[in-house]
Amino acid sequence: MAVAAIDVGGTKTRVEIFSGREKPLGSTTFETPRDGDVAGRVGEAVLALAAGERIDAAAAASPGPLDPRGGVILNPPNLSREWWGLEFAGRMEEILGCPATLENDANLGALGEAVYGGGRGYGSVLYITVSTGVGTGLVVDGVIFGGSRGFAAELGHTVITDDERVCGCGRRGCVEAVASGTAIARRALETGWAPQDGGEVTALAVATAAASGDRRALAVLSEAAGYLGRAIVNFVYAYDPEVVLLGGGVAQSDLFMRLVGEAVDAEPIMPAFRGVPVERGALGERSVVCGARVLAERLAKRRA
Ligand SMILES: [Zn+2]
Repeated sequence: MAVAAIDVGGTKTRVEIFSGREKPLGSTTFETPRDGDVAGRVGEAVLALAAGERIDAAAAASPGPLDPRGGVILNPPNLSREWWGLEFAGRMEEILGCPATLENDANLGALGEAVYGGGRGYGSVLYITVSTGVGTGLVVDGVIFGGSRGFAAELGHTVITDDERVCGCGRRGCVEAVASGTAIARRALETGWAPQDGGEVTALAVATAAASGDRRALAVLSEAAGYLGRAIVNFVYAYDPEVVLLGGGVAQSDLFMRLVGEAVDAEPIMPAFRGVPVERGALGERSVVCGARVLAERLAKRRA
């Protein structure tokens, strides 16, 4: 049995083929096609990588919002408008001749970490990816919690502060608006901060400078980490996860992870809710593709 696992990102697309073993049979990464037939192009990439091997099922991740049951991309604000309403899973099935499914990337990041990464052995895993935005996924007993339409969990769009910063979703003070990588870079720019090497103002540059003693960069990073820590306590009250795992580029900063941990500990919390571990995910940028693998293998077994 061979399955295709696909992570369609805003800039890069990763395709991996698995056949039961831990390591992928093959993998490739390419620039995400911008045109309206992205699903067809991804399907062709799968066929090329499979090199004649039969693919039994495929699962793809894309930024939401999307309809996982119909396999349709809805209207993601950060992606090409040509993708809006795209019947992604159906087009993949046409090209590959096997069942295919589409799921939100943060949900698959959560599933990947729950099955193969830092969430192994835990019954419920809350995964939070901090990069361009703040994506979240909740996996309970190995199953993605998707809500009534498969849209959950979008905890990045819960309001955490009366800070007036506007989020891409239209609300003010969302976790994503104050604690994402984009928010960190924007805040640094607002305060007039610039990297000493004259490079671009990014969340990574802020985190690196903060780690080497730059007080202004530290203030910006601490503010974002503080908001995320407070949000995590909210999520612990709402879902009581066994572990909280952080992923995405910003979470690769040890200092950011420490600041988030300190913010969680500093938040008043009822004793019964204390002590939920907050850790970095184990799979790095492969968490999403690993989650897609899990979904594709389940789909292949169901159809076998
Ligand atoms: Zn929002």
